[in-house]
Amino acid sequence: MLTKVIEQSKIDSLGRWMERSDNFVIIAHVAPDGDAIGSSLGLWHYLTALGKNAHVIVPNAFPDFLKWMPGSREIVLYDRHRDFADRLMRQAEVICCLDFNALNRIETMSASVKAARAKKILIDHHLYPEDFCQIVMSYPAISSTSELIFRLICRMSDFDNITREAAECIYTGMMTDTGGFTYNSNNREIYFIISELLSKGIDKDDIYRKVYNTYSESRLRLMGHVLTQMTVYPECRASLITLTKNEQEQFKYVRGDSEGFVNIPLSIKNVVLSCFLREDTERPLIKASLRSVGTFPCNQLAAEYFNGGGHLNASGGEFYGTLAEARAVWEEALAKFKPLLHENL
Ligand code: 5GP
Ligand code: MN
Repeated sequence: MLTKVIEQSKIDSLGRWMERSDNFVIIAHVAPDGDAIGSSLGLWHYLTALGKNAHVIVPNAFPDFLKWMPGSREIVLYDRHRDFADRLMRQAEVICCLDFNALNRIETMSASVKAARAKKILIDHHLYPEDFCQIVMSYPAISSTSELIFRLICRMSDFDNITREAAECIYTGMMTDTGGFTYNSNNREIYFIISELLSKGIDKDDIYRKVYNTYSESRLRLMGHVLTQMTVYPECRASLITLTKNEQEQFKYVRGDSEGFVNIPLSIKNVVLSCFLREDTERPLIKASLRSVGTFPCNQLAAEYFNGGGHLNASGGEFYGTLAEARAVWEEALAKFKPLLHENL
């Protein structure tokens, strides 16, 4: 049995919307990750199984290692099909906002979402959701939005309408947002849910291989290169890895190739905070990714120094300047957080 995480009044409200609505749009955050795509497609499969007319729209492309996911070819990329996507949002009766908590996380889509007359529901696990949806299902203690989709469907008494395809998508999101169940994964109910997903016929070992073991040779060489250049700050229990545009060209970088790099330095004994700074190829900015172990709040560091946020142990942001300047800001942040990093044994 699962704990009733979602309040009954919210389930009831959504139930009433579902009874009266046929046209649904599901949206997720920019640079969608496994949980954004997994939760969106999980919900999309469910709504489709109920006979609803549903579309998934995301701001821009998602990595190749998610392209095997059933339904992924139906996803509308806003930066490529803006007019079509805007029309879908204008016609939608319900817009489901998944895996993000603030309109700036959907970037160019935010104006259309704001303007849409559709009723809006937020289903998410990031702290401090903004107030732009009538129903807000925000549960930061839950490790993935995909898990919330599973819980939601079960609370609608509709476990039977979870297809194997939906189960594969939900599992993928749960797996990727916990690093293959290696962090944020101590809630035993996660394993009950996995067991239920297995009953739908998913092959979890195959999903792991498809997500984590299908990279190119150049990606592996890039990983080696980035790690060779790593800086470790033993006195701060921290590490930094960087990636310039030049290096991206040299190693034939494609979107998603640096996914997971930021976690690797945490495998060094006594490193509790890892930072990855990457020159963005599309916009003139530096993308920052931060990961921590234990109680160190990397979302606080991301908010104070990199215009970002996220979870306690996994957060990110952006820096508007050069890589050298971003590095200097990172080192300034380290100096400030040094006492806290020492505490974090
Ligand atoms: P990643 O490092 O994988 O890009 O992002 C990890 C987490 O940090 C995301 O799930 C999201 O919660 C948060 N995050 C990443 N980039 C940003 C950003 O630019 N702004 C905010 N507010 N959060 C971010
Ligand atoms: Mn997520």
